[in-house]
Amino acid sequence: MSELSDKYESLKKTQEKLALRIKQLERDSNVMDYKRLNRELDNVMDDLYETYREIKLNEYNNCNHLAVMTEKKKDQSTGRNYYSVGCIKCGMNEKALSKSKFLRSVDENVMAESFCDQSFEYDLIKDYVVDLDLAHAIYNKIKENHPNINDKLATKYFEIALDNIRDIEVNESRKQSRIKRLGLKPNFKNWK
Ligand SMILES: [Zn+2]
Repeated sequence: MSELSDKYESLKKTQEKLALRIKQLERDSNVMDYKRLNRELDNVMDDLYETYREIKLNEYNNCNHLAVMTEKKKDQSTGRNYYSVGCIKCGMNEKALSKSKFLRSVDENVMAESFCDQSFEYDLIKDYVVDLDLAHAIYNKIKENHPNINDKLATKYFEIALDNIRDIEVNESRKQSRIKRLGLKPNFKNWK
């Protein structure tokens, strides 16, 4: 028992010493600066997020969406087709809605907010079921080369580019350079 009491006393002393040292350091000007800067950083991060959210919300709310199907399913009992869509211009993806709030990315949370603000109306590029990252990347490339292009012509260019990507088989290194050129994630695979 006395062994435990000794241990307790010794720990108590160490605790007091550490608490005192921390109190002293809290008055140190460097430490005070450190704490103040951390608070400032937190505030800037909040503002940064809020500003980004507003930028994306404006983008989603003011886009004349041009959509592709990102998924197509047939209901076996009714025989009806169901599909999900996403916008190739702003990247707004209907699938963001079906995800749990906690699994969404920052962009997906803003998409969900935009879906609540207004109905998701779009022109649909028919006959294509395509990964939205790929579709959005192709559109961005077209827009980069033709900044003032209208939707009708962009749709035409989009279809030609996607057909080329799908019809012409290329080797792995060509695929990698295509991934880089389009700014896709390095392990992108959903070409078809
Ligand atoms: Zn859009």
